Amino acid sequence: MPELPEVETIVKDLKELIVNKDITEIIALDKQLANFNEARRQSLIIGQKILDVSRRGKHIAIKLTNIYYLVIHLKMTGQLIWVKGAKWLAGGHPTDDLTTVTKPTWPNNTTRLIINFSDGSTLYFNDARRFGWIKLMSEAEWQDYQNKLGVEPLSKNFTEEFLQAFLAQKPRSRIKPLLLNQQYIAGLGNIYTDESLFRAGIRPDRLASHITSAEAAKLASAIRVVLTEAIKHRGTTFSDYRDGRGQKGNFVNYLQVYGRTGQQCHRCGQIIQKTILAGRGTHFCPHCQQ
Ligand SMILES: [Zn+2]
Repeated sequence: MPELPEVETIVKDLKELIVNKDITEIIALDKQLANFNEARRQSLIIGQKILDVSRRGKHIAIKLTNIYYLVIHLKMTGQLIWVKGAKWLAGGHPTDDLTTVTKPTWPNNTTRLIINFSDGSTLYFNDARRFGWIKLMSEAEWQDYQNKLGVEPLSKNFTEEFLQAFLAQKPRSRIKPLLLNQQYIAGLGNIYTDESLFRAGIRPDRLASHITSAEAAKLASAIRVVLTEAIKHRGTTFSDYRDGRGQKGNFVNYLQVYGRTGQQCHRCGQIIQKTILAGRGTHFCPHCQQ
């Protein structure tokens, strides 16, 4: 699933490509994916200009001139592909057809939604497993929705003090599931949780009540550093997936524990272990993390 750094990368790319463009058509091939009916499609989406593209947690929000938002969640296998003539740019779930810089063809059998713009460009929303969604929301609805999401880990509200106070409220919970819960902290997923806990030297199954305030401070800092570095490298992709600029998400080269089961820890040489915690594959170094 794309996490905060991958979604942030898509948002930055889309900002350059679709802001100030008018939507000339929007076609939901899969009615399950979208929440708008024909009347709203005609009156509230078609003909609108894109004012902005932003991120909240793992959500992408496309703001229209009428101050409605097209809010997208890519979930497990969603991807957005922008195409104009021979140029294209993809973000989200890596698939085999994107392993080359030669342009694949769209729509394909995973395409669920198509948006056409006034400059002749098209945005495809593909999703093989169909968990992703797009919702038209008024400004109040979008605000309401965001109020249910947790703090942004790269905002100034995400401080040592915040994390210490938060852990104190959840003494009997294990640390990793707390970090994954989008109602508390928005944007962390499996990869960046494991990486942050390694850098902070904390085992993923530790109880919140057993984490010292010094460790919580270290963890808050590790989360910010890991996410910032990952954004710099355009996120993490595990295959030879490249976007239309021929770029890969290079953070895979900097991962310390995630996906490294059975390999030596770069820091101490011990073998990285994998366990299942709250239903998620969890990677850690038994020596560096206590
Ligand atoms: Zn180690």
